[in-house]
Amino acid sequence: MPRRNRRDPEYFHEPEPVDPSRTTPDAPAWASAAGFEVRTVGGQKPYRCPGCDHEVRASLVHLVVVPVGDADARRHWHTECWRKELRRLGLYHPPHSAM
Ligand SMILES: [Zn+2]
Repeated sequence: MPRRNRRDPEYFHEPEPVDPSRTTPDAPAWASAAGFEVRTVGGQKPYRCPGCDHEVRASLVHLVVVPVGDADARRHWHTECWRKELRRLGLYHPPHSAM
């Protein structure tokens, strides 16, 4: 079994294995931010990620981010792109278990 290295770019691109029947609508704790409602979804059709301007593939489990009180402004984000966006906004709080 090859060891994973955090610097290995593939580490960030490998989709997490998800059994659709066990998918929970709750986003990971780090993904929540004040003013946003964040949910994990499995895609049914492709979307455009506002973080990287690339396609969120239909089969990919990703995040839906809805500004509170503005449901029309919901956006589909790659999980890692939302993480970067939160960092950019200064809202990212890494889980204690990481590291
Ligand atoms: Zn993206």
